Amino acid sequence: MYRTGHLGVSMLVFAPIGYLLVAVGLPLAALATGGAMLWLAMLPDVDHRIPGVPHRGPTHSLLFAGLVGGAFGGAGALLADGVGTVRRLQLSLFGFFVGFVSVGAHLLGDVLTPAGVNLFWPWGRTFSLSVTRADNTLANWGLFLLGTFALAAAGALAAQGV
Ligand SMILES: [Zn+2]
Repeated sequence: MYRTGHLGVSMLVFAPIGYLLVAVGLPLAALATGGAMLWLAMLPDVDHRIPGVPHRGPTHSLLFAGLVGGAFGGAGALLADGVGTVRRLQLSLFGFFVGFVSVGAHLLGDVLTPAGVNLFWPWGRTFSLSVTRADNTLANWGLFLLGTFALAAAGALAAQGV
């Protein structure tokens, strides 16, 4: 997928998560998750710029999602300095979740394309749902619109306290 498509999938994935976080009284966590998901929507495509790393290889795997989650979890633990063990554990788990789901949403977008992704890298098998080609303008903008709509609906529901 292109950037528009990936942003769309990220918004689609975030919409129910953000809604739930607001519903349980954690609007700041919802904001942080949404911000991170949009910020990291294209992170796995950093492989275009790293010499020797194949596109949709290691950075398009659950292992990479786990590593990014680990980095965010570590950051959460550092930020939580001096707030007690339970709170610290909660923040590192939340950090892990945010990093993992941010990369996960990108993988979901690429799984839609015939080229697929190397989900279980280093195992070589590629996974694909073959729904649309990555360069399909209609699919990219369609996902973007769908994501925007889902986000708006989730926001409206959350604002009404439904
Ligand atoms: Zn990609």
